[in-house]
Amino acid sequence: MEKYIIIIDQGTTSTRAILFDLKGNIIFTSQKEVKCYYPFPGAVEQDALEIFLSVNDTISEIMVKKNLAPNQIISIGITNQRETTIVFDKNGEPLGKAIVWQSKQSQAICESLEDKKDFIFQKTGLILNPYFSASKIRYLLDHIENGQERAQKGEILFGTVDTFLLYRLTNGKSFKTDYTNASRTLLFNIFEKKWDEDLLKLFNIPSIMLPEVCDSASNFGYSNILSSQYKVLISSLIGDQQSSLIGQACFKEGDIKNTYGTGCFILTNLGEKAKLFSNGLLTTIAYGINGKVTYALEGSVLIGGASIQWLRDKLELIKNAAESEEAVNKAEDEVYVVPAFVGLGTPYWDNNCRGAIFNLTRNSSKYSLIKATLESIAFQSKDVIETIKKETKLKFKSLRVDGGASNNNYLMQFQSDILNMKLQKGKIFETTSLGAFYLCMLNLKKFHSIEEIIKFHQIKQIFVPNMSKEERKNKYKKWKLAVKATRIF
Ligand code: ADP
Repeated sequence: MEKYIIIIDQGTTSTRAILFDLKGNIIFTSQKEVKCYYPFPGAVEQDALEIFLSVNDTISEIMVKKNLAPNQIISIGITNQRETTIVFDKNGEPLGKAIVWQSKQSQAICESLEDKKDFIFQKTGLILNPYFSASKIRYLLDHIENGQERAQKGEILFGTVDTFLLYRLTNGKSFKTDYTNASRTLLFNIFEKKWDEDLLKLFNIPSIMLPEVCDSASNFGYSNILSSQYKVLISSLIGDQQSSLIGQACFKEGDIKNTYGTGCFILTNLGEKAKLFSNGLLTTIAYGINGKVTYALEGSVLIGGASIQWLRDKLELIKNAAESEEAVNKAEDEVYVVPAFVGLGTPYWDNNCRGAIFNLTRNSSKYSLIKATLESIAFQSKDVIETIKKETKLKFKSLRVDGGASNNNYLMQFQSDILNMKLQKGKIFETTSLGAFYLCMLNLKKFHSIEEIIKFHQIKQIFVPNMSKEERKNKYKKWKLAVKATRIF
């Protein structure tokens, strides 16, 4: 009987269970939407139980639709939305809602610690921001009856989504996380590779509520999810962006990838020594494999593919995202859109500016707007990559790309042109789940080394720059001016 691995990709908008055979082919995917709740302005929440049930349902669908026996699944791996915070009791019952990474509801807690932001950065590599888990834990404990007291007694546990799912899947037997998820909490010392006493004190979070931190490929525990008679091994836990770094086989220092989803997440492998950089770049843990931790430098674009959703849903200029690609040929002029709908990410980290459009003429049409919006994704990504280049002095050979908007060939060609850099796309498009799959294969000793993964990784498409130096310089100069003007307004 053929054997398989199931990867759970628990994202913000949906949960997917992906069935891989041991040759790395995707055999089947089951997907279920997960609701977001917006109880008051700035707050984004999810129901942790609904997240768990969606995992249960998608796994069941695979087993039924592919008519599989439980023992055909030799392992499960989990990759997940990062930073989202859940507190739960010893029975795995969530206490309150999960606070989603995007949520700003713990902003006041961060503001009260403003004078400690450098202290926090020096230990975690992160900026003091409600985005990360620590202030969300504090917020939840403050909103649960006797929260602090119960947490101190060990009655309340904290987990990012990976930990909560693991706890439920193993009936409370495993209370663990991996280095990548831990490194996004604002409580983890990335240099000492352990929960940081000073940071725990700062946020007044009892250490007893924190999970054990393990390598991303480990024996995390056994689950009865497939049948009461059969225990399946959970072999990997990893945050989604780090998983796609692995799925792109970015194992060498200076390997760099960009995931073009709702936002864009650019990560570059920093090697085994943690280093801090300025200009809004975050140092984070890329993975822990065989007892060794590797670091990554991360920069993000807040509005990437989401700007294409804006064209579709608010301006109603296109019926679907793919239509944007054909539209560019009909544009007659050079418009600049700065989609700062929620401010700007790396390197600006400007929460206050809002979007703007520049350089309109009588010839400006909806097509010009569509083209400019697509190009803004590439310009913003260049802003991040130029910052990484400048700060690290690393030389990049090529950029590995994935995510929904990387399906747009115009965008990818323009990205290659404006960066003057080769772009490459992997054969397996599901790079996020592929990373967690590779980790399972390592843990199961089906792969024996990282070199084996590098050899296994296949490239499907390459984009080569084809724009004159002068045109590139000219366009990027105008983009920078547009950003400057947006921020002044
Ligand atoms: P996420 O994981 O953040 O939900 P995905 O990787 O699924 O994101 O990508 C979805 C995003 O990609 C959406 O914002 C969508 O607008 C954008 N997108 C999808 N296809 C295209 C396309 N062909 N051209 C441009 N943008 C696209």
